Amino acid sequence: MIQQCQGCNVGPNELHIFGCPNEPCPFCLGQLLSCGCIYRQLGLDPERLGAIEGFTIEQEERWHAILTAKGRVPFGSDPRPPEQRPPEQ
Ligand SMILES: [Zn+2]
Ligand SMILES: [Zn+2]
Repeated sequence: MIQQCQGCNVGPNELHIFGCPNEPCPFCLGQLLSCGCIYRQLGLDPERLGAIEGFTIEQEERWHAILTAKGRVPFGSDPRPPEQRPPEQ
């Protein structure tokens, strides 16, 4: 049984430290760090906003607020509805 997140060291049912690579996105259930939901939710165009430029602090704060309102996924909990989970090994 996993006791701690390998990415940010939080325990079960604790929220990941924001920016942890193991945090799932509550919108697409993909990796929060690499999914494109921030663009959709903030109405940004990924083509125009170069990855090098990154986000402004204001954009990151808005994204954080959107995620919090949606409900972030704590460590150790599966964001998917039961019917979408893979069968137990
Ligand atoms: Zn984590
Ligand atoms: Zn996403």
